[in-house]
Amino acid sequence: MSLTPEGRALESHVAEVWAKLEERATAGLSAEECARFVAAARAIEAAIEPDAAIDGCRPDAPLTDHPWLKGSTAVSAALPTHSERLASPTPPALPEYRSALVTGGSRGIGAAIATRLAADGIRVALTYNASRTAADRVVEEITEAGGHALALHADSADADQIRAAADATGREYGKIDILVNNAGIGMGGPIEEMPIEHFDRTMAVNVRGPFAAAQAVLPHMPDHGRIINIGSVFADRTPFGTLSAYVTSKAAVAGLTRALARDLGGRGITVNNIQPGPISTDLTSADSHVRDVMTEATALRRFGTPEEIAGLVAYLAGPEASYITGATITADGGYAV
Ligand code: NDP
Repeated sequence: MSLTPEGRALESHVAEVWAKLEERATAGLSAEECARFVAAARAIEAAIEPDAAIDGCRPDAPLTDHPWLKGSTAVSAALPTHSERLASPTPPALPEYRSALVTGGSRGIGAAIATRLAADGIRVALTYNASRTAADRVVEEITEAGGHALALHADSADADQIRAAADATGREYGKIDILVNNAGIGMGGPIEEMPIEHFDRTMAVNVRGPFAAAQAVLPHMPDHGRIINIGSVFADRTPFGTLSAYVTSKAAVAGLTRALARDLGGRGITVNNIQPGPISTDLTSADSHVRDVMTEATALRRFGTPEEIAGLVAYLAGPEASYITGATITADGGYAV
């Protein structure tokens, strides 16, 4: 087979394009999409005719600009467009392996979420702020059980630290399929006495943190990723006082969830909000009177466990939740009924 110099140039250009197609084909696409990419590459190859004269062919021109392919439907028909891929009524298969970033994974609900996701075969990065030893212990336990985990320091109130944690996770695992915005604080007090700095800190960790984390993971998140926020039933029901900053922050998380679901739905990314009721953790163990009042207020007459919230996170991260987005789901033992 002899080729004109232009033909040879085009041939090498096609080889490059094919390599790129193959690269994309291995980057977490479904088997069906891979097959379509390979078919597209073959269609491009078939378009190279040996000894054909090529007018105005430049090897660096976009392939679809070449005279042979201009107006040809071979490439565009074989390559699924972004909207075609997303418009498919079939939910996408989950990638072979997945990874997650869980904020505030050193203790309580976050530690249970990290442990559960890892048990489900997901590689987990968890952030901590003050509790390094506890975070290392969670990683150790996950690793001993045969999972993959790493702990990263990142104060959720600091957007730069969150971005660094997201980038480190992306480097370590290649991508971030799931973000769980769990880190949260509950600074309470009567409105007359609460320092405004406590309000600011609560909003910085509980609201600005999830916003910044969503921004930070997006460059690492493939289409059809999952973002799961941990709000609170207090956003809907506020049965006693001193919670103004916390309640405001958790109501904002519900709003942020709806807004992000709209922003990211075009990429097939789902965004949901879990609102736990009283769960047994350090956050709720301090005041036994409050514990009694809250226990009495649940229909089930008990606190929930961190594992019960982690189970719901696993569900929202799993294949059966592919059509749930923008939702706030309450898991509160009947606290809000
Ligand atoms: P805990 O106090 O037991 O644990 C909080 C976790 O968040 C810790 O891992 C902590 O890490 C981390 N964290 C706190 N501040 C920061 C920060 N600035 N940056 C990074 N991480 C931080 O709380 P819970 O497990 O009970 O709460 C988890 C989430 O669930 C929170 O969003 C909370 O509002 C929500 N929630 C909890 C309920 C409950 O009854 N427990 C009810 C409703 C909602 P470290 O110690 O390393 O700082």
